[in-house]
Parts: sequence; C-alpha cells; structure tokens
Amino acid sequence: MKVSILKTLKDQKGQYVSGEALSNRLGVSRTAIWKHIAALREEGHSIESSSRKGYKLLSSPDIILAEEIQAELATGVFGREMIYMDTVSSTNTVAKEKAAENYPEGTVVIANHQTAGKGRLGRKWESARGTGVWMSVILRPDITPAQAPLITIFAALAVARVLEQVTGVKPGVKWPNDIVYHKAKVCGILTEMSAEIEQVNYVVVGIGINVHHNIEDYPAAIRETATSLKAVTGQRFERKTIIKNVLEQFEEVYRSTQDAKKELIEEYKKYSLTLGSMVKVTSRDGMIEGEAVEITDEGELMVRTKDGTMHTIFSGEVSVRGLYGYV
Ligand code: ADP
Repeated sequence: MKVSILKTLKDQKGQYVSGEALSNRLGVSRTAIWKHIAALREEGHSIESSSRKGYKLLSSPDIILAEEIQAELATGVFGREMIYMDTVSSTNTVAKEKAAENYPEGTVVIANHQTAGKGRLGRKWESARGTGVWMSVILRPDITPAQAPLITIFAALAVARVLEQVTGVKPGVKWPNDIVYHKAKVCGILTEMSAEIEQVNYVVVGIGINVHHNIEDYPAAIRETATSLKAVTGQRFERKTIIKNVLEQFEEVYRSTQDAKKELIEEYKKYSLTLGSMVKVTSRDGMIEGEAVEITDEGELMVRTKDGTMHTIFSGEVSVRGLYGYV
C-alpha cells in the first residue's frame, strides 16, 4: 500500500493528490492513507500536506535498489550479478571474498556505507552513509600481473567520461586514477589483485565517488582536498544513475582494451592533470622530481628529470605541483 501511494505521488510529479482521490483509488480509508504518508516521511520522503489540496511529494531519499539498476542496465556481464549491502567493512574486502568463492567476472558489490573504506597503502577512504557510490567490480582478465595497471587507468577513464556526461563539467584525472574537480578529489579508485607470477586470478576494482557530501561533512584533514558532485555543481544526482553509467562505460572500455588501447590512452590523456606538470615521485627506489612528459600505451608515466634523464613510472606516489598542497 505504502509503495502504491508513493508511486501515485511520484506519477503526479510535484502536483497535489487529494486524500480522497488516494483513498478511492486504493480502496482504503483516508486515515489509513494518512498513516502510510507518516511512514513514508519516516523513511525520508519529504511530503507536503494541505488539508484542502492533499499530498505532494517534494523529494525522496536517494536509495540504491539493485533490481532497479539492473532493470535499466545495458551491459553484457558487468552488474549482472549485483550484491547490495547497507553496511560493509569495505566493498573491496567483500568483493575479494566473493571472487575467492568463484563469483563471475562483472560481479559488483555496492554498499550504502563502508565502516573501513580503503585507500592505497592502507589509507582510509571516508565513506559516510548514503553519501556516495561505494562499489567494487570483480574482473577475471586473461593478462599478466604487469598489465594490471592499465585496468586502473581505464577505470578512471570510464568514471571521468560518466562524470563529464552526467554533470556537464569536465573533470581532471591525476595519474593514475584520482578524479579531480577544482583541485579536489571527487573519486578514488583502488585496484587489488590476486595473481601468480604469470597469470592473474582476479582483479577487484574499487570505485568511490563522492556524491551528496557538503564540504563541512568531511573530516577537517581532507576538507581542502576532497569534493563531491553536489559541492561542484550545486545539484543532486541519483547514485543509481551514476552506478548504471559507470558500469556501462567501464565494461565498454574494458572490452575494447585490446583493440583500441591507443585511442583509449589518447582519450585518457585529455583528462590528465599530471601530463605537462612538475611532479614528485616517491617509490621504493627513492624520490625524483621532474616534468611528466608522456603516458605510454601501457599507461606508464614518463618523467624527465632536470638532467634530461627519462624515468618510466609504473606505480608509486606521485605528487602533482598545485594539487593537494604540493607547491
Ligand atoms: P592518493 O593516492 O591520492 O594518496 P588514496 O587512493 O590512497 O589517495 O586515497 C586515500 C586518501 O584520500 C586519504 O589518505 C585521504 O587523504 C583521501 N580521502 C579519504 N576519503 C576521501 C573521500 N571520501 N574523498 C576524497 N578524498 C578522500
């Protein structure tokens, strides 16, 4: 009954529906209608009521329903298996468990809240309840471990495409995989893999996109370096739209990696904030500073130091001058 009332109000798109009309249509008393409206308000729907005109739906909470997303999803395998949980430690952790249990390629784990969201190198990813897209995709590519970084690069490309399409504002990408607006991170990607020396068993790509945050919601330590789609555009985007689009774009990019690697890298470069910038790279081998001059077809970063030497960077910490407080 509650769902029918909600549907009727939604169909009326911001118009009033009288209590009488609802009661006639659904065959219950006006008191019953009133009780269901109260329950819907409890769930976070904002419903205006007027004794003369009836009820009007102002807004609904941004709820993620796996079946609703799947019904509209235009993918072959990504998201065909979708595990939604309200609260998880981290979607990557759950996805790795599922991968070990032989869940198929394309399985997606989505959560409303992560209690221990992860960044690289054991860092923490803030994932407050209901505020963002916290999801992980299981992949089973037929590649060697050395080729895995390209997956991360292309996940970033897919997210960048989607954010540009959905918001109309072009984001930047900090190599390899932070998506940035106005010098602050809107999305982080964490790729983890299980592999033998010659063969990858599975890859889990965790994607965290900040959607509804107000900057004040962030812990003080990241207020300068984190942003959200709401903070950037002033608009409210539904998480399901972003999830659907990211899965579609990511699958498209992932499938065409073999045939269209060069074109995809070229497209990735157009979003790059790193190329052409002065960077500082910290890795196991030490620290270098120089100019980021190229991104190779394998997704590696080429850095030229002052003495003219070229360095190929596969991974490591890269600070870009002008971003996240590196001056
Ligand atoms: P990076 O590679 O940029 O250092 P990581 O991928 O390791 O980042 O992500 C973790 C870092 O991102 C944290 O140390 C914190 O500074 C920042 N961070 C944590 N949560 C968020 C968030 N929700 N949005 C933006 N930045 C965040």
